[in-house]
Amino acid sequence: MTIAFIAHDGKKAEMVGFVKDYVELFKSKNITLIATGTTGSHLERAGLEVNKMASGPMGGDAQIASRIAEGSVDMVIFFRDPLGKHPHEVDVSMLMRLCDVYNIPLATNPAAAQRFVQTL
Ligand code: PGA
Repeated sequence: MTIAFIAHDGKKAEMVGFVKDYVELFKSKNITLIATGTTGSHLERAGLEVNKMASGPMGGDAQIASRIAEGSVDMVIFFRDPLGKHPHEVDVSMLMRLCDVYNIPLATNPAAAQRFVQTL
């Protein structure tokens, strides 16, 4: 299965902490990770193999949204910062809308991410 990871800047540290708790699971052979650029670099530093897209503000969320539309993403874990301003908010909205269009599980906070991952 393919899991997409995205973390806004204000949530990257929390995302790294989360990933470290499940690193062996995410390393398993049947899980492929994709991520926006900077998020992906953090995942790599945590020891994971990741297919990195462009950075979020440069179109990375849009690239992940496109993969959702193509049917190649099975789950999205998005550590959103609800208190921050984001220049690419329209891309973020598009990604979340396409998750709903294609019925792709979308976790937008750490508690939901934890529940999702426990189902794997
Ligand atoms: P980033 O993008 O991983 O390149 O920082 C995340 C985002 O959408 O803000």
